[in-house]
Amino acid sequence: MPAINSPYLVPFDGSFRVADAPTTPPKDAPGKKESKRRLADLVDELRELQRVLYADDRHSVLLVFQAMDAAGKDGTIRAVLSGVNPAGCHVSAFKQPSNEELDHDFLWRTAKRLPERGRIGVFNRSHYEEVLVVRVHPEYLGGQRLPGSPDNLDELWEQRYRSIADHEHHLAENGTVILKFWLNVSRDEQRQRFLARLDEPEKNWKFSEGDVREAEHWDAYMDAYEAALNATSTPSAPWYAIPADDKHVMRTTVAEIVTKTLRGLDMNYPEVDAASRARFDEMRRLLGG
Ligand code: ATP
Ligand code: MG
Repeated sequence: MPAINSPYLVPFDGSFRVADAPTTPPKDAPGKKESKRRLADLVDELRELQRVLYADDRHSVLLVFQAMDAAGKDGTIRAVLSGVNPAGCHVSAFKQPSNEELDHDFLWRTAKRLPERGRIGVFNRSHYEEVLVVRVHPEYLGGQRLPGSPDNLDELWEQRYRSIADHEHHLAENGTVILKFWLNVSRDEQRQRFLARLDEPEKNWKFSEGDVREAEHWDAYMDAYEAALNATSTPSAPWYAIPADDKHVMRTTVAEIVTKTLRGLDMNYPEVDAASRARFDEMRRLLGG
């Protein structure tokens, strides 16, 4: 399954640079109204594509979302999947790991939530937290009780990138179509959104002191994203770095990539064989039709 042609595809040769990745849409991007109209069409198409995905029953789809706080993960997931049959998709959010989760290898908790054939699984945060937040705060490794204490952490991250890439390659070879989105919000836009959460009473509930403190580690996060995306963007599990400062264009861009990818899959409604069809007349008679 080749990755689709998109200006936001993270190349597979390690040349991705956060500093060059746009956080705003191109000048000729559609406005809010046109973006919403296009999104509505894509949502309709995605609904139909999921129906064939289910009937065909050979592929599953995994959408991974990673981003800094307030980049709009939740809103994007809601907007893009709003038309899909709720029985056909499943959203999992991954927060700080529980004690039980910490007692397993780092891919265990996300592996349990992988989509079955015919379904779309969405990860709101994912196994990538293990090379993002944990890389920014290596003290979290203490709670993971890994055997031996790696004195060279760079080696540990390389090991984890390899584990992730191998795992995703295995899933892809067994029918999972994986698309990964980094919603790339600028630091200034994030700051404006935090301020709006303080200033607008109906947004107060979203405000988190922890988010403001985490943003102090901005540069370390950007380094971690750059390293992780370069190490794990592959033809079988490509990353897309989507400009996130304009929510409407961002949502439509994600929907376009998902829809285009699914359109490219060889999926069909199963054909009824001649023997079964021959029995249709008898069934019609039984039904009094
Ligand atoms: P929202 O704020 O919209 O509810 P969220 O995904 O930010 O969504 P929070 O509960 O605010 O949810 O934050 C979850 C926190 O858990 C994040 O700071 C994230 O980095 C952290 N986290 C996720 N996975 C891990 C992990 N494996 N190890 C350590 N921290 C993790
Ligand atoms: Mg949060």
